[in-house]
Amino acid sequence: MGVRAPVVDHGPRTGDRVALTFDADMTDGMLANLRSGRVRSYANLRILDLLEREQVPATFFLTGKWVQRYPEVTRRIAGNPRFELANHTYGHAAFTAHCYDLPRLPVGELADDVAKTFEVIAPYGGRQTRYFRFPGLCHDAAALDALAPLGVTVVDGDVISGDPFAKAWKPLVRAVLDHVRPGSVVIMHVTEANAAMTDEALPHILAGLRERGLTPAPLSEVLAAG
Ligand SMILES: [Zn+2]
Repeated sequence: MGVRAPVVDHGPRTGDRVALTFDADMTDGMLANLRSGRVRSYANLRILDLLEREQVPATFFLTGKWVQRYPEVTRRIAGNPRFELANHTYGHAAFTAHCYDLPRLPVGELADDVAKTFEVIAPYGGRQTRYFRFPGLCHDAAALDALAPLGVTVVDGDVISGDPFAKAWKPLVRAVLDHVRPGSVVIMHVTEANAAMTDEALPHILAGLRERGLTPAPLSEVLAAG
């Protein structure tokens, strides 16, 4: 009764920290696109290049299937002391009904899916967390109840960049900078072909954060501190 995975949108609104989070979606359909050559990459290395060059902290919500497809990139993320690793399900299925057009997992399989994903991510080491983000941010009471035994904190976010399938970078920059505040959790994607403008928007987002006196920090620090 009343045991339910906690959900957070953002950290304390004091201080100057914000969390940049990048989701790494991967579905069977996406894997098929890679196999057929229809899509070249769902791993945007230009984002990693930039974050590393500028020494910017970030938190990556990884699906198990993305990790298995991109072990080298995962190793690179885990090897960066400024990056945190978090869980975005195994194969990016919906955990509720009517979550965009994602196929739905039965409630009885939700906890196993998330546990399996932690098992896939854990061997990479680095800054492991118990943060979890639902595909499409879709969750309900049954899903939160199902995940309670795993000790996860569900992280939605309060600034949605809208980068999936974006056709231009400027709207992403505006979406982030118009809404970002101290304690914000910014949602972006590192999925390249499905979020092709994110790396072009990112330098402008970082510059805009600096102008506003906001400093990117790992999610755990943004949620804990002020
Ligand atoms: Zn996602």
